[in-house]
Order: sequence, then C-alpha cells, then structure tokens
Amino acid sequence: MKQQNITVLGSTGSIGVSTLDVIRRHPDRYSVFALCAHSQVDKLFEQCLEFRPVFAVLRDAELAEELSRRCRAAGLATEVRHGIEALIELSSLPEVDAVMAAIVGAAGLEPTLAAARAGKRVMLANKEVLVMAGELFMHAVREHGATLLPVDSEHNAIFQALPADFARGLVPCGVQKILLTASGGPFRNTPLSDLGQVTPEQACAHPNWVMGRKISVDSATLMNKGLEVIEARWLFDAPPEMIQVVVHPQSVIHSAVQYNDGSVLAQLGNPDMRTPIAYAMAWPERIAAGVEALDLFKVGRLDFFPPDFERFRCLQLAYDVLHEGGTAPAILNAANEIAVAAFLDRRLPFLGIPKLNEAVLSALPARPEGSLADVLGADAEARSLAESMIVDGRFA
Ligand code: NAD
Ligand code: MG
Repeated sequence: MKQQNITVLGSTGSIGVSTLDVIRRHPDRYSVFALCAHSQVDKLFEQCLEFRPVFAVLRDAELAEELSRRCRAAGLATEVRHGIEALIELSSLPEVDAVMAAIVGAAGLEPTLAAARAGKRVMLANKEVLVMAGELFMHAVREHGATLLPVDSEHNAIFQALPADFARGLVPCGVQKILLTASGGPFRNTPLSDLGQVTPEQACAHPNWVMGRKISVDSATLMNKGLEVIEARWLFDAPPEMIQVVVHPQSVIHSAVQYNDGSVLAQLGNPDMRTPIAYAMAWPERIAAGVEALDLFKVGRLDFFPPDFERFRCLQLAYDVLHEGGTAPAILNAANEIAVAAFLDRRLPFLGIPKLNEAVLSALPARPEGSLADVLGADAEARSLAESMIVDGRFA
C-alpha cells in the first residue's frame, strides 16, 4: 500500500495531537507532509523533530523565522512557511493525499475549502467550516470529487450507522431520524440562577472529553450541539426536522440513526477522539487507534433526556439560523467566536454568550450564502458588531 501524505491543519491542538498519535502507530501507512499551527513554536518544533514533515507553518513571519532557525540548528530539512496562503497551498499540493482539518473556528475555512477543491481526502473536525459555508463547501466536495470524512465523534458515528450509499438520500435509505447525542456539558444540572457566575475554568472542565478551550465553552452553552446540528444538516443532507438532539450524559453512544423498520443503529465507544480520527484516516478499513475497548459491564447504564432549549438558548439559535438559511449560520458562528473569546478573557459573563449571539443575529440581516467573499463579509461584519457590543458593556 502506498504511504499516504498528510497535512495536519491545527497539529498542536487537541485533535491535532490525537491525529499525530494515530499516525505514530502506523508509520507504514502515513507520513506527515505538513504540520500547521497558530503560534505554539515549542510544541510545533517538538512535532517537527519527531515527524520530520516537508513543511511546517505558523501564522506570523516572526515566529516562523524562529522555528526555521531551530529546525536548521537541529539538522531538519523542514521548510517553514507562514500565513494563510501557505495553509491553502499545503492543503492542495499534488503530493498531499489527505488533510486533517483541525484548526478551530473560521480560520480553518479557506484551507479546508482549498483541500476540497483540490479533490483531497478531507478529514473534517473543524465544524465551523460547514456552519459558515455548508452549501459552498459541499458543492466543492461534489464538484471536485473530494472524499469527505467526518471526525466529529457524533457525525463519525452517524456516518458509520448510515448505509454506504446514503448520498442518494436519507428517505430513500429508510432513515427516519438522526439521533444526535449530547453529554449536556458541565452545567447540565447547575441551577439557572448559578450560571451567571460560572468561570472559564468551570466551563472548560468537561465531564467526559478533554478538548480545546473554544469547543469546551461551546459544549457548556450547548452551542457546540447547535453547530453540530448544522454540521449534520450539510454532511448528510438532512432537514433540521430529522435531526433530534438527545442528551446522554455518559457519552458512550456517540450518535445513532433511526430507520423506518424500527431499527436504531448506534456507534458506541469510550470517549476518545482517536477512534473517529483513525476511522476517518483508514476508511473503509479500520486500524488500531490506541483506544481501550469499551467495557459494557463498567458502563452499567445509559441515560437519555430531551434537551432544555430554555436553559441552553444557543441550541435553539442554531435551529433558528438553519431555518433562516443564507449567511445566518455564519453570522451566528462569528458572534459566538467573539463571545467565547470574550468569556475566556473575562470580558463577558457566561450568560452573555447566548445574549450576544442573539443580539448580533437580530441586528444583521442574513443574505444568500453566495460566494466565499459573501461568507467572509458576513463573518467580518458580525465579528465587528459583536466586539462593539461587548465594548459598549451591553452584556456585562
Ligand atoms: P484546539 O484549540 O485544541 O486546537 C486548535 C488548533 O488550531 C491549534 O493547533 C492551533 O494552533 C490551530 N489554530 C488556531 N487558529 C489558527 C490559525 N489562525 N491559523 C493556523 N492554525 C490555527 O482545538 P481542538 O479542540 O483541537 O478543536 C479543533 C477543531 O476540531 C474545532 O473546530 C473543534 O470544534 C473540532 N472538534 C474538536 C473535538 C475535540 O475533542 N477536541 C471534537 C470534535 C470536534
Ligand atoms: Mg462532537
């Protein structure tokens, strides 16, 4: 079998590190073509030493120069680049077989879209890509014959529970519903009156998963589940009415598909992202991921609850923007990125996140999704409005 050349976008993050762990276990199958990160020079240098990529990318020229010096001093041939153009190029060069899209947020949109346009195997963790530009991205995947494999654990589970030819339509395949599971996050049982005072540390302490800070806060507001509803809508061409969120605190069932004959097919496993990452990397084969086998005796019981849309407004907002369509999801995504960053900076209280998102959505009209420029325009406009609302102290 020919070794696959992989570009890892976001290699120093939670998903990036897990991806490299799977690659480390299968040196015969995979080689690292490019490692890309924002600004963590030390961590990226360590990764370069171990994986010896052809290219490494950081965001700024100055940091890239520092990494380059260190690589040269260590005798590495790795060429260091910087900036978005480098990310786009290293996601689409002919030598690249597969791209792990694991940058967090809107910053990943252009390189991931470039990978789709170059017809690559795209392993998608960066759900914000589909939230911002679902129509555009799915069109690029189809038009250029890219292979899209979901890494998000829920969508990976759904992908595993669907027939291989699901692209001919969920209804013709006998699908009635997609059951999208949610842990409920760290504040599932916190009294509403206490949510106003929660800290970034509490919000990032997820009961089942260890993840980056942005997605951890999104899990605490249930915005993450909202973004995942939108992600599922595009990945599986599923109307929002067919997507049912099910709160399942143990995070053992990663999601399920309900069929018209009464069958429900689910994928179960320990909460470890290396399982969906390995599946996306090796599909249609399966490879060892370093994940402990699920012990059902230890699990013992599984619980399920309906989601509380009142308490977790962000989930409702996601369904609302799906109905509105066009750039509405991109506006919500941008407002939310600003809100989460401000919450992590202690400039916005926890309950300010849904309030800010809602305020930005009601202030900005949605336009047709149109081109990439339209999406990026809506994103920029929503970001600057969200920032100005925080500065005004409207949600303090
Ligand atoms: P993280 O914060 O741990 O890592 C983000 C990575 O992106 C880092 O390597 C960072 O350097 C890089 N990055 C950020 N901005 C960048 C920029 N402008 N240019 C280049 N690189 C940049 O995040 P994570 O938890 O690994 O999540 C990554 C994505 O995967 C998110 O979209 C998240 O929603 C999704 N996801 C994560 C998990 C999980 O378990 N962590 C599960 C499902 C989906
Ligand atoms: Mg998920």
